[in-house]
Amino acid sequence: MQSKTVPFINKPQMQAWLDEARLADHSKIDEILEKAANFEGLTHKEVAVLLTMDSSDHEDKLFEVARKIKEHIYGQRIVMFAPLYISDYCVNNCSYCGYQHDHQFNRKILTQDEIRLETEAIIDIGHKRIALEAGEDDDKASLDYIIESIKTIYDTKSGNGEIRRVNVNIAATTVDNYKRLKEAGIGTYILFQESYDPDVYAEYHKSGPKSDYYWHSMAFDRAQQAGIDDVGGGALFGLGDPLFEVLGLMLHQEYLEENYGVGFHTISVPRIRPAKGSSNKYPHAPDDELFRRLVAIIRLAVPYTGIIISTRESAAMRKELIDCGITQLSADSAVGVGGYRVNKMKRQAAEVQFSRCDERSTSQVIDWMLDEELIPSYCTACYRKCRTGDRFMHLAKSGQIKNVCQPNALATLAEYLLDYGDEELQAKGFELINREIDSIERDDIRSIARKTQDDIKQGKRDIFL
Ligand code: SF4
Ligand code: SF4
Repeated sequence: MQSKTVPFINKPQMQAWLDEARLADHSKIDEILEKAANFEGLTHKEVAVLLTMDSSDHEDKLFEVARKIKEHIYGQRIVMFAPLYISDYCVNNCSYCGYQHDHQFNRKILTQDEIRLETEAIIDIGHKRIALEAGEDDDKASLDYIIESIKTIYDTKSGNGEIRRVNVNIAATTVDNYKRLKEAGIGTYILFQESYDPDVYAEYHKSGPKSDYYWHSMAFDRAQQAGIDDVGGGALFGLGDPLFEVLGLMLHQEYLEENYGVGFHTISVPRIRPAKGSSNKYPHAPDDELFRRLVAIIRLAVPYTGIIISTRESAAMRKELIDCGITQLSADSAVGVGGYRVNKMKRQAAEVQFSRCDERSTSQVIDWMLDEELIPSYCTACYRKCRTGDRFMHLAKSGQIKNVCQPNALATLAEYLLDYGDEELQAKGFELINREIDSIERDDIRSIARKTQDDIKQGKRDIFL
């Protein structure tokens, strides 16, 4: 039973907005697409119109505007990250998840030594940014354990590499606990809403603390009150009506902006995948065509918010989604506890939270990205320069962010090529880097980018603006 009302979600009102939006005429749709093409973002009512429009002419224009926004703000850069699962103990029973409490399997929580091993394995495939993932279990994986794990990850080095940003995806918690996470130096606090529809949410979350829709939905308020100003939202596409979920995301975004001055730093768009221990059928799972459209609409609505996809999507689909506005992706992810090294050493298969679709190694993904003229970026500069929350958004909206993103991205790509690439990959990568540096408009930024490349080739690391 829902105890309190979530201020930004009113289901009958949202359904009425979607119904009303279906009546929008062509000129209204054109006007909305024009506004988005000027990088102004969209209101939730404008998003409702794009979600419900029914015209292939407008669809072409939608994808064109999404591509324009992506190219103008993010260029060819794609931020890379890897998830690190440290515990699959969970007291919740989310019926779509392989870690749900009632699913019987040999659960695992990593020791600090094992976390060190896993971190080394992630560093050794070139990553600098991770998303720490753990099921909810205050006894087995307490906040003390999570904090100690973050410290272990930051302290681990391997070769020239280290993890420079730990984003954290753990259960909704208290203001005091968020303060402790902030003190531990986390990057973004990520929490997926799963479904914004309270009835759908109740259907899939029948027990455990996460079954409290209000507690879960208001988690970012508590995080903001604790001083965490980089928060990452998301919905699990396939549980409820996907149009309703996108509208929910937009209302949540507007609510955070109004109340805390900054909305989502990132939005994740996981699409439902089969998971062991779950026999659910998902009649609302969006097909590829609808999914591409939803991603493009989110890109138009929040031009300065990163959009993330994981290895849940196939290689071919990932390429198409990048064209629609995706800016961050994971590569070579182990989606089970100990999946990078610990289980391999013990020759056990990790139990996974969901099944992957893109099985390529990191170097294969990087090779593919270079062929597509995309720039894999391992940059973590903003968080380390305290460019978070509204400071980050101000820089992003002023258009100045690309003057730091581009040299930083190229610097981290050079590090990757020299430390983890073979000769062939290096040749391909440096050709792209040189081309990209030549195309930097500002003379001062171009010189900085060249100097940084020289320094990295001389053996310096971790240079950023
Ligand atoms: Fe636990 Fe998260 Fe899985 Fe739910 S989705 S069962 S909270 S690990
Ligand atoms: Fe991201 Fe900031 Fe680096 Fe740009 S400079 S890629 S916004 S961390």
